[in-house]
Amino acid sequence: MQETPALKGALQVVRALREHGFRALFAGGCVRDAVMGLQPRDYDIATDAGPDEVVRLFPKTCEVGAQFGVVRVRLDGHDYEVARFRRDAGYTDGRRPDQVIFSDEREDAFRRDFTLNGMFYDPVEGRLIDHVGGQEDVRRRILRAIGDPERRFSEDHLRLMRAVRFAARYHYAVEDATLAAVRRLSHEIVTVSRERIRDEVLKILTEGGAPLGIRMLIDLGLMQHLMPEACALAGVPQPKAFHPEGDVLTHTLIMLGMMRDPTPTLAMGVLLHDIGKPPTYEVADRIRFNNHPKVGEGMTRDICARLRLSSEETERIAVLVREHLQFMHVRDMRPSTLKRFLRQAHFSEHLELHRLDCLASHGDLSSWTFCRETLEQIGPEEIRPALLINGDDLVALGYRPGPPFRRVLTAVEDAQLEGRIGSREEALALAQEEFEKLGLGHDRDVKRIS
Ligand code: ATP
Ligand code: MG
Repeated sequence: MQETPALKGALQVVRALREHGFRALFAGGCVRDAVMGLQPRDYDIATDAGPDEVVRLFPKTCEVGAQFGVVRVRLDGHDYEVARFRRDAGYTDGRRPDQVIFSDEREDAFRRDFTLNGMFYDPVEGRLIDHVGGQEDVRRRILRAIGDPERRFSEDHLRLMRAVRFAARYHYAVEDATLAAVRRLSHEIVTVSRERIRDEVLKILTEGGAPLGIRMLIDLGLMQHLMPEACALAGVPQPKAFHPEGDVLTHTLIMLGMMRDPTPTLAMGVLLHDIGKPPTYEVADRIRFNNHPKVGEGMTRDICARLRLSSEETERIAVLVREHLQFMHVRDMRPSTLKRFLRQAHFSEHLELHRLDCLASHGDLSSWTFCRETLEQIGPEEIRPALLINGDDLVALGYRPGPPFRRVLTAVEDAQLEGRIGSREEALALAQEEFEKLGLGHDRDVKRIS
């Protein structure tokens, strides 16, 4: 393990516990990562000290799960979860143990989900403690439930998602009995809270192995309970000229596999960008999916609501889906339309989704290149110039505030973005012309009415 600041703090926590006569070990994900030769992200510590004792030993602590014996310790800006060795007893709700019984490290290993997650490491003695055969499974690249898979998944249905996440992230094969159990119990996923499902789906999409993860969710029967719309992507044919790669699911999975460190919103946008294709599929002069971005936008909003994404995230993903085909038209857009397109919120995500869309199909990046070059050439002042006039100016001219204001001001900004006007006077004159076009007469008429 490389001596990072996070590791230094973790060692300090272990040493302090040991100096006070407790046993303390690195546990779970950090041990797995180290055994795999990866850099651990955070360090969890398992100990025989109780929460009260941990709280007494460190200046900054927070009891995050007192009933589970878990305390969060803060040291030099890093957080460490310090948990008492325990075994879990009696699962009745399919998610959380009814009670936990504090015990020893062996039992603590056997309550964990998969062998790769069930190892401990003693950093003082430099010794791996592996009661569950985790090291051998990592060597053979196998994901295996600890103990009887059916029982372990029945205890906690979230483990169904975790199995997919870890297998996909590391490209591990799932051991036969573990795989069979996930398949047999997949329908139980509906008992897990949507927030927890959302978190797992987003991790599957962003932490590596996304195409494999999505494929597994579909093949193992989980996806039909989470997002049946995504199952429907399979087998929907596309015109060969634009999509030599194959059906809509194949195209989507290729895109997922080409993502580079995506945000959750981009990854969801990629997964859902063609979600409107199955319901709009028709064979006319060729295979067509008329209006699929708009249909897809609506479906996306449904899916995001179901997954309890925030309204901000939902908006961002839905707009990615709705706009993804606009890139086709960028070279034919009027300058004002193009500038508005290029300056929309989170445009880098739109651009990246489009890049992936091209690379996973025909490979033609000319629209992508055009957008990038245009953005470089015109700069922020030209793309979003200071407005020449605003609503107050229209009021000063004698017009009453109302819905036409927006249309008039948009027309004035369009003219500015296209270089047809450049001064405040020209803007005011154009505003009056626009009001007349709308049949609203000019200021004196309006004044007389009011
Ligand atoms: P990540 O890299 O995603 O953080 P992690 O292994 O650290 O992976 P956590 O969810 O942080 O995952 O859990 C820490 C450890 O706790 C796991 O390694 C595993 O040993 C155990 N664990 C977590 N969730 C469960 C669960 N639902 N059932 C059994 N054991 C679990
Ligand atoms: Mg973790």
